[in-house]
This record gives sequence, C-alpha cells and structure tokens, in this order.
Amino acid sequence: MGLRVAYGGIQAVRGITFHVAEGEMVALIGANGAGKTSTLKAISRILDTAGGTVRFCDREITRLAPHRLVREGIALVPEGRGVFPRLSVAENLAMGAFVRSDTAEIDRDLDQVFGYFPRLKERAEQLAGTLSGGEQQMLAIGRALMSRPRLLLLDEPSMGLAPIMVQKIFEVIQAVARQGMTILLVEQNARLALEVSQRAYVMESGEITLAGEASQLLNDPRVREAYLGES
Ligand code: ATP
Repeated sequence: MGLRVAYGGIQAVRGITFHVAEGEMVALIGANGAGKTSTLKAISRILDTAGGTVRFCDREITRLAPHRLVREGIALVPEGRGVFPRLSVAENLAMGAFVRSDTAEIDRDLDQVFGYFPRLKERAEQLAGTLSGGEQQMLAIGRALMSRPRLLLLDEPSMGLAPIMVQKIFEVIQAVARQGMTILLVEQNARLALEVSQRAYVMESGEITLAGEASQLLNDPRVREAYLGES
C-alpha cells in the first residue's frame, strides 16, 4: 500500500496500492520506465522502499531480510533471467530448492519442471550460460518453481524471445496458474499479458492509472490506443 521506490532523488514508484488475491494471475503493464520492475524489486526486497507497506498472507514484509522471502514463499524470476551461467541446468534447478529439505517432494517438483520444459531435461548437464535466451527463461522459471513458491513474480518473461518461444513459455505460465499458483506478471507485451491474466493494473510514470478485469482492459479505448497499437 502506498508503495514508493526512489533512486536518489528520482521517484520511480510514486505511492501505488494494488493487491493480488490467492490463486490469481494479475498483470502489471505499462511502457518502458513506468516503474514495473522497480515495483517487483521492492516487493522482493532487492530494493528498499522509500515509503508504503507490502503485505503477504496477512503479514507485513516491507522490511524483511531478502533471503527470508524465499522461505516465506515469494519467488522472483528477474528481468534478464539471472541464471548461473557456469552451473549446469540441473545445478541451477537444485539452487532453486536450496531452502528446502523435503527430498522426495523436491524430486517430484523437478519431474514437474521437466514435464513443463522437456528441453531442460534433455540439457540437464549443459552449462546454463550456453543455453539460448528462451531456454534460459525456461530455466529461470523452473528454478523459481523449485522453491515451491506461494507467489511467483515474473518480470518480462517474453523479453527478447522469438514468438514461438514466447508462446511456449506462456503456455507453461498458464499451466502453472491453472495449478493454483498466485502470479504477478510484469509485461511490456500488454496484449499477451491481458490475454492470460484475470486482472491488471496499468502503470504510467510511477503511478497506477488504470485497473480492472483484464478482459475489460483489452477493450478499453485508452489501453487499446496506448498499449495495443490501435487508434
Ligand atoms: P522496464 O520495462 O524498462 O524495466 P519499468 O516499467 O520496469 O521499465 P523501471 O525499470 O522500474 O521501469 O524504472 C522506473 C524508473 O526508474 C525509470 O525512470 C528508470 O529510468 C529509473 N531507474 C530504474 N533503475 C534505476 C537505477 N538503478 N538508477 C536510477 N534510476 C533508475
């Protein structure tokens, strides 16, 4: 609530209030520089907030130590993927589960990730740095799922990927959502984001300017003109 993020004197997020209900997929859309990434970084404690509060499952987490967040059940798939390039695919996935000790369940989740992304299974021993961009995105999502999060934060999963890869990745995101995962999706590809999400918020210059059901926003003339390339 009233979330603020600033870089020095520059206010990137200017007091925004939004929520994601359990089991919902919610999109945060907006142009380059609108403050979407900064919002995710503040929720995941990569950045300190300059004001406001973040609550997760009835608990305030605004000042929680970043390493605690994974234990609390929040996993971020960062912009640019952030895989460990010198570790293998299997090792990257194991890193995702480092806070867990339920070995049998970890194996089950690994099978599920390999089911979502068979390509990762084929390349399990390959160094992550040698994967294509799309495969790295798969790995970043797989690694986040390995922590068995209660909230998945996705930052621009479509960025820089060929349309066929974007389609594959979004099929998995939708499958994960159907399993009941709570997802906050940041996307510049507004059409795609609105097509897969239930609700969405539009950010402009650090503020939320529109909010609603994704299907309604898809038909909103302001959204169509500004974000869907229509007049
Ligand atoms: P993008 O899709 O490009 O990531 P965004 O909507 O996620 O855009 P942010 O990355 O959150 O936007 O950036 C919001 C504002 O904060 C922009 O004006 C940006 O220039 C500024 N900003 C982002 N990171 C920094 C930084 N490390 N130092 C200074 N200013 C920054």
